[in-house]
Amino acid sequence: MSSSAASPISVRNPRTGEADYEITPPTATELHALTVRLRENQRAWGTAPMEHRVEVLSQWADQLEKSATSVIEAESVDMGHAPLAQMSPLFVVMLVRRWCERAESAMDELMREGQSELMPNIEYSTQLVPYPLVGVIGPWNGPLGLSILDAIPALFAGCAVVVKPSEVTPRFVEPLMATIAEVPELAGVLQYVVGDGRTGQAIVEEVDAVCFTGSVRNGRKVAEACARRLIPVFLELGGKDPVIITASADVEMAATAVLRGSVFNTGQGCSSAERIYVHENLHDAFVERLVTMAQEVRLNHPDPQEGNLSPFIFEPQAAIVDAHIDDALAKGATLRSGGRSERLGGGLYMLPVVLTDVTHDMEIMRHETFGPIMPIMRFRDDEEALRLANDTEFGLSASVIAGTAEEAKALARHLDAGEIAIQDVCLTMIGVFDGGSDSFGCSGLGGVRGGSAGIHRFVRRKAFLTNTAEPSPLAAGF
Ligand code: NAD
Repeated sequence: MSSSAASPISVRNPRTGEADYEITPPTATELHALTVRLRENQRAWGTAPMEHRVEVLSQWADQLEKSATSVIEAESVDMGHAPLAQMSPLFVVMLVRRWCERAESAMDELMREGQSELMPNIEYSTQLVPYPLVGVIGPWNGPLGLSILDAIPALFAGCAVVVKPSEVTPRFVEPLMATIAEVPELAGVLQYVVGDGRTGQAIVEEVDAVCFTGSVRNGRKVAEACARRLIPVFLELGGKDPVIITASADVEMAATAVLRGSVFNTGQGCSSAERIYVHENLHDAFVERLVTMAQEVRLNHPDPQEGNLSPFIFEPQAAIVDAHIDDALAKGATLRSGGRSERLGGGLYMLPVVLTDVTHDMEIMRHETFGPIMPIMRFRDDEEALRLANDTEFGLSASVIAGTAEEAKALARHLDAGEIAIQDVCLTMIGVFDGGSDSFGCSGLGGVRGGSAGIHRFVRRKAFLTNTAEPSPLAAGF
C-alpha cells in the first residue's frame, strides 16, 4: 500500500449493476497512525476490569439496536436486498449481549493457581494478557455479521480491533461507525477501515493477531504473511458441504431442509449445502419433491420485498456458477430445474438449480460454487455415502437426515467436518454461540470461533512462579 493518497474504489450495486458508491482506502501512513492510536487506547481497555468492558459493549448494543434501521438499509443495498441483511444488526446485538453474560466466566476458565507437585514451595498463578491489536478481515457474503463476529470476543478479551470488511460490500460501514462513535470509549478501540486486498495485506503487517474469513486462496496468503511475522492467525475459509439423506428419511422434511440450506442467501454461504447424496431407494421421490419445491421459488425482482432469492452480490460469482453448471452438463449431468444466471435490471439472478446424474469428476462436486445449486447423487449404502461425502478437500460443515436423530448421528460420527446438522441442513449460524467447531481440511485453521474457546484465542496466559522458600544453592541443582 502506498503512503501517498490512495485511489478510490468504486462499488457496484448488485441490483442495478451500476457503480453508485465509492470508498477511499487509508494510505499506509493513515493506517499506521490509526493502529498507533488503537494500541495506545488498548492499554487502559485491556487492563480495565471485565465489568467495565461489559458496560461499554452493552451501551453499544443498545445504540446499535436503536439505529438498526440505518445499518439494515445500507447492508440491504450491499447485499441486493437479501433477507440476511434484515437480520444481521439484531444478530450482532444478541451476540454482544450473550458475550456480556458469559465473557467473565469464559476467561476464568483459563485461570490457574496452585502449588508445584515437584517442589511444593513453588506456587503458581496466572495473568491473562490480551493481544494488543487484532486485525479482522471479512468477506462479502455476510458483510456486517462476518466482519464483527470475531471482533466482539476480541474486544471483551481486552484487545483493540481494526476491521476491514470486503471492498464489494462496504456501504454498511458508515452507519455502523456512527453507532460506534456514540460510545467514545469503544470508538477508541474498535475501528473499521475500507479497502481491498492491499489494505488487508497492510493490516496483517500492523497487528498482533489476525482473524480472516474468506477464500482458501487468500486465506493461504494471509497465513503465510502471519507465519513470517510469527503472529497467530484464525482462518475461516470455504466449504463444499455435503448432505446425506438415508433411506429411512422423510422425503418432505429432507426436501424442505435441502432447499433452504442450499439456496438461502442465493447459495452465497460458506456452509451452504452444495452436494446432496440420497439413498437409491429414496432418490426418485426426493428429486421429484425437491424439483416441485424449487420451481415455487421466486426471485426478489423487480420488487425486493417479494420473492425469495436476491441477485448475486459479487458480479463474477454468477459466471463461476454458470461455468460449474455447463461443466456438469457437458459431462453428463441432467438439469431438472432452473438454468443459468439471468440479467434483470442490471442485476444477475438465478433460480434454484437441481441437477441429477452428477459425478465427482464434475467441478460442481469438487469446487466451491457459491450459488443456488443442488447437485444430487445416489448411493447404495452408508459406506458409499460416507466415502463420497468425505471425498473433498474441504470440511467446514455437513448435514445428515435419517429416520431418527440417532441414526443420523451414528453416520455423522464418521464425517470429516466441523459442524454437522442433524435432521436439518445448514444450522451453522445457529450453533455459533455455544457449540463452536473446528474446521477440517482447507475450510479453516486455528481455533474454535464459538463458545469459550472463541474468546480464549485472544489472550496469552502468563504464569507467575513464586518461591515461598529460600532459593536453592547451585550445588543442590533444582
Ligand atoms: P476473499 O478471499 O476474496 O476476500 C476476503 C477478504 O480478504 C476481503 O476483505 C478481501 O479484501 C481480503 N483480502 C484479499 N486478499 C487479501 C490478502 N492478500 N491479504 C489480506 N486480505 C486480503 O473472499 P470473498 O470472496 O470475499 O468471500 C467468499 C469466501 O469466503 C468463500 O470462499 C466463502 O466460503 C468464505 N467464507 C467463509 C466463512 C467461514 O466462516 N468459514 C464465512 C463466510 C465466507
